[in-house]
Amino acid sequence: MSAIAEIARKVQNREISAESSVQQALDRIAATRDSNAYLSVLADFALETARNLDRRLAAGENLGPLAGVPIAVKDNIVVAAGKTTCASHILENFESPYNATVIERLLAAGAVPVGKTNLDEFAMGSTSETSAFGAPVNPVHPDRIPGGSSGGSAVAVANGTVAVSLGSDTGGSIRQPATCCDIVGMKPTYGRVSRYGLVAYASSLDQIGPFATTVADAALLLNTIAGYDPRDNTSSNRPAEDFTARLEGGLKGKTIGIPREAFGEGLDAGVEASVRAALAACEREGAKIVEISLPTLKHAVAAYYAIATAEASANLSRYDGVRYTTRSKEAKTLYEVYAQSRSQGFGAEVKKRILLGTYVLSSGFYDAYYMQAQKVRRVITEDFEKAFAQCDVVATPTMPTVPPKIGDVFKDPMAIYLQDIYTVAVNLAGLPALSLPASTAGGLPVGLQLIGRPFGEVELFQVSAGAERVSGRGTRG
Ligand code: GLN
Repeated sequence: MSAIAEIARKVQNREISAESSVQQALDRIAATRDSNAYLSVLADFALETARNLDRRLAAGENLGPLAGVPIAVKDNIVVAAGKTTCASHILENFESPYNATVIERLLAAGAVPVGKTNLDEFAMGSTSETSAFGAPVNPVHPDRIPGGSSGGSAVAVANGTVAVSLGSDTGGSIRQPATCCDIVGMKPTYGRVSRYGLVAYASSLDQIGPFATTVADAALLLNTIAGYDPRDNTSSNRPAEDFTARLEGGLKGKTIGIPREAFGEGLDAGVEASVRAALAACEREGAKIVEISLPTLKHAVAAYYAIATAEASANLSRYDGVRYTTRSKEAKTLYEVYAQSRSQGFGAEVKKRILLGTYVLSSGFYDAYYMQAQKVRRVITEDFEKAFAQCDVVATPTMPTVPPKIGDVFKDPMAIYLQDIYTVAVNLAGLPALSLPASTAGGLPVGLQLIGRPFGEVELFQVSAGAERVSGRGTRG
């Protein structure tokens, strides 16, 4: 049940024009402006692109699998048609001269970027509240966070402004907001999707991926954005695969591993009950559930925050008041240009992480923190390798609690970092993972996270589609 395939079919058959498809999205964006999901709307560019598609259609061309499909893009992925702010004052006026590879691929497939979505500043956070331009509003539960860092992309889909959007996921930033907004979010295997044109947070962990209301739409969108890119030397040169190939394959014969360490201390009882109920439904449909062990899972958050901040401190050094950035007006010397532009341009969370990252990389502490974290990363990866000898897919909750209340992150930042336990381990190991809604009726949103083997997206989508079907939610959207 793919909503975007349906839009593309109608546009290609000229039942609706690409222009009206895009206009509808722009109207819905205008009607839901208070949600603060978008930091900028690319109205002129989107309409011009759509009219051009309509002209090509009139000339008899086949537009591609996403013909006339409006899409929202996280504002840390560059689109030449407008600004890319990363929700930071330091990039408030930055305009990229080029498109990210994912944007080029979307345009070539007939999709139309309609706006840039809100996020935690430089994608650092799990709640979207560190955005310099105010947090987006969760449409499902407005007193709760929408999740982060790709909160705007999740809200854009949950609000129905678009059927699909792009986010980025360094340690959970697609899967957590998908959970909080009760939709589907997917992080591909590291290297599956080009990072060219994604503003780097932590380069060894970052990956772009889709948001959608259904597993089928997420798979279809990944088909377009995945694949080798010579401009990203970490992109994989595996041949293209059709991620929708086994969506109907079902759960029979599939083994789902449940890590015992993921269902212990710190897990909210209601979340556990919802996730276990979802897995029991999978078992009734023929999946085999086995208990597995990820003994080093408990070290994932500590290792992640050492590695991610170390990489961030290096990546963000380029914002110096000379290139890209807003320059401090008071600065008189070069040193002041650097120091004042950075002090004024970055928010508190970003500064904290640059300091922490610089500390873990400094000569006296490098071995104790950064090297140690890299060793932990290696053993977590090995834990997963052993697990995948016993099962096809690993299942955990996406978050250990229901979405926190707005503002909690500033009261207890450590508690919010600990929320990342299930998602960051996946990035450390470079694996693909998908979060899908698993809340029981009437409750706050709960996400079921399914984790696949490296480059095992086809199988991951198969199991996810099966789990979605047994939850009765696969027809949404
Ligand atoms: N919450 C994690 C962090 O703050 C993950 C963010 C992300 O995936 N971009 O680093």
